[in-house]
Parts: sequence; C-alpha cells; structure tokens
Amino acid sequence: MTRIAVIGAGITGVTTAFQLHQRGMEVVVYDRHRYAAMETSFANGGQLSASNAEVWNTWATVLKGIKWMLQSDAPLLVSPKPSWHKISWMTEFLANIPKYRANTVETTRLAIKARALHMEMAEQAGVDFDFSPAGILHFYKKDRDMAHARRVTKLLGEGGLDRRELTPDEVARIEPRLKGGIVGGFWTESDSTGDIHKYTVGLAQWLEQQGVTFALGEDVTDVVAGDDAVTVTRASGAEKFDGIVVSAGVASRQFARQLGDRVNIYPVKGYSITVNLRDTRSQDAAPMVSLLDDDAKIVTSRLGRDRFRIAGTAEFNGINRDIRADRIAPLVRWCETHFPDVSTASVVPWAGLRPMMPNMMPRVGAGRNARVFYNTGHGHLGWTLSAATAEVVAGCVHSAMRESSNLATQGFRFKSV
Ligand SMILES: Cc1cc2nc3c(=O)[nH]c(=O)nc-3n(C[C@H](O)[C@H](O)[C@H](O)COP(=O)(O)OP(=O)(O)OC[C@H]3O[C@@H](n4cnc5c(N)ncnc54)[C@H](O)[C@@H]3O)c2cc1C
Repeated sequence: MTRIAVIGAGITGVTTAFQLHQRGMEVVVYDRHRYAAMETSFANGGQLSASNAEVWNTWATVLKGIKWMLQSDAPLLVSPKPSWHKISWMTEFLANIPKYRANTVETTRLAIKARALHMEMAEQAGVDFDFSPAGILHFYKKDRDMAHARRVTKLLGEGGLDRRELTPDEVARIEPRLKGGIVGGFWTESDSTGDIHKYTVGLAQWLEQQGVTFALGEDVTDVVAGDDAVTVTRASGAEKFDGIVVSAGVASRQFARQLGDRVNIYPVKGYSITVNLRDTRSQDAAPMVSLLDDDAKIVTSRLGRDRFRIAGTAEFNGINRDIRADRIAPLVRWCETHFPDVSTASVVPWAGLRPMMPNMMPRVGAGRNARVFYNTGHGHLGWTLSAATAEVVAGCVHSAMRESSNLATQGFRFKSV
C-alpha cells in the first residue's frame, strides 16, 4: 500500500489526510503538538466565506496600509524591523497586483467548491462543529466603501457567487441587533460559519478510528526526498514514505527549503476574542448572522448559543505569537460599540499566524521532486478553502503514485523532476 506522510494536523493537513485515506493510501499525520489544530486552526474567525474571496493585492490596500502604519490601533501593523523575508514577500505582493482580478475570481470558485466537500466530510465523520448556514453580511459606513464593494461583487459573480446589495433598512432587517452608522451592506445567503477547531479535532479523531495514524507530539526536524523514498526525521527516529504532503502552516516555508522548493509564506498575525455569552441578555443581543466589517477588517461568527467570536487585524512581525493587549482592546471595543447589550465580562483572547503567500493563493500540488506535494499557504481563508485544496492535492498524489507504480512494474526508476 502507498504510504504518505502529512506534515501538520491543522485544517489543511487533516482534510488532506481524509482525501488521501479515501483514495486508499496509508497515511501518517505528524504534528509537534499533542493535539490536532493547536496553531492557526485553533480560534479563527469561523467564516466559510466565498464572499471574502477578494485578494488583497491592490494599490488601494497598499495606500491604506501606509496610512494605517501611522495609526496605533489600525487593523494593519507592520513592524519596522527589516528582514529579507518581509521585503521579498512585500515585493512579490506588489508584483501580483496585475493578477488581482484573476486570483479573486479563482479564489471564489475554490471557496464555492469547498462548501459541499466540507459538508460531506463532516457528515461522514459525524462531526458537530457549531455549523450555522445563516449567511454572511458585509456592512459599510462609507459610500466610497460601498462603491468598492459593488465592484468586488461583480468579480465574485464571475466566480459564481450570488451576493446582493442591501439598503440600511435591509441590513437592519437581516441583523436587527447591529448598531452603528451603517450606509449599506452586501448579503451572501449561501455563506456559513463553524468552529474550525471542533471540526479539525473531530475529523482527526474519526480518521484515527478509520486507520489513519496521528503521530502527535512529534516535532519533525528534517525531511529529505530522494528518487526512491521520502524520509521524515523527528527526535524518536526516521521513517520512510512513498510521498509527502507539506501542510505545516507557517513552517511550510522551512520544510519547502529542505525539499528544494521555494514557498514564500509569511506569518501574518491576527487576533480573535471569544466572548462567552453567559446570560440570556447577552445571548439575545449577540448577532445570529456572521458579519464582516470591511472598514475595520473584522469578521464575526456566532458559535452556538453561548459563544461569539470576533477576529481581525494583520500584523507583519515574523514568527511571533504574543497576544498583545493593545491589539485585543480594539476587538473588545468593537463588540461594545456594535452590540452594547452583550456583556464583555468574559472574553478569551487568542493570536494566530496566517500562512500567507504573496499572491494570496494557496500553494497546492507537486514540488520539484516527484514525491513531494504541498497543500499550504491559505492565508486568511484556510477554513474556507481547505476542503477544495485537499481534494486537489490528494488527486495529484494519487495519480503520481499510480504512475510511479506503473513505471516500477515496467522496470523504470521513479525519477525526480
Ligand atoms: C485571526 C484569524 C482569523 C481567521 N479567520 C478566518 C476565517 O474566518 N475564515 C477562514 O477561512 N480562515 C480564517 N483564518 C485563516 C485560517 O485560520 C488559516 O488559513 C488556517 O487555519 C491555516 O491552517 P493550516 O492547516 O495551514 O495551518 P495550521 O493550523 O497552523 O497547521 C499547521 C500545523 O503544522 C504543525 N507543524 C508545524 N511545524 C511542525 C513541525 N516541525 N513538526 C510537526 N508539526 C509541525 C503545527 O503544529 C500546526 O498544527 C483566520 C486566521 C486568523 C489568524
């Protein structure tokens, strides 16, 4: 039986393991943590949002970013400490501005494709992840931002997404609890939300029952790909596989380097708060639909009756997981401004690193060595896109391995490309 190693038990690694297992391969998933989904797939914004498929590569984002650099509580923070990694990433980000349109349309298509696949996996594994199909509402406080959203809606439409413009009254009808000077909104009824951590852990547990091995608490130090096998090394020893899929979040760049590939992921830090809705008043006052405040770059999800997740901000500061009080405070303030009757007495802060490619597109498919594959770099949309990219990468692995065994039976060696 073909043996494949998957590095990383976040949402991308676990969904990849599901798809590889479905295709009859023997799978070992490695993670340095003792449990699945302990890094970026822990407490994100919860949105399964085709409506958020717009890539960030525009001159408008760059200008906004420069303005925000002068504002201490802005959604974007760039550490002034220079690094080649940051400079190379930002240069490539600018170089991808001409691909803004094509990449936005392609991301929308992938996000739509992922929806049914996510549901299929959850149903098959019987995972309860506080799923809510209640839709996602983008709301705006400036006419200028509404005009931009209209242009984005056209691109999302090219990718197959139906998103409807709303008047302020219609916004109030869809989410009557939302307060603030709102000039309009956009409504995506087909979008949804759910708890990424519950989903990933539930799927991992089910896969383990089906025979997938989870080597947890195993810090992988080296990966080496040759013509005949891939070797994965961690403290307890080395193991050989027919192939490898790298889904190691922000660590994927370092593994890619070992494997002779360049995957220029930058860790873009974001924060979330989970507001515990402990009393009936707060439960009634928190929104039932998922929100996206485009100006503040904040997303929200209602996770069951008693949790309200608020997430946002982008911080360019290398591999740094510190939870800064001055970045959490704006999220709490946002909650108190827009939902004044929700108690913020119990708030759980979190920070995670988005594994972001400069063109904002995930890296999915084969590496230079024919036994090496990637499903990583999903940035701000890993929850939304992972089900679709897992299917794509598993398909690539499956055909490559079949081809290799055909060549082997004909007496050929499996050569690196
Ligand atoms: C604040 C915030 C809000 C977000 N909101 C949304 C949202 O609403 N919707 C959405 O679609 N996306 C959202 N995202 C993005 C999404 O959460 C990520 O894209 C996704 O979780 C990335 O998953 P991953 O599997 O690639 O990485 P991870 O979940 O980080 O998994 C990688 C795994 O690799 C393991 N690993 C790394 N190095 C090693 C090693 N040496 N040995 C063994 N194991 C190793 C790690 O331990 C980790 O478990 C948000 C992100 C943030 C930060």
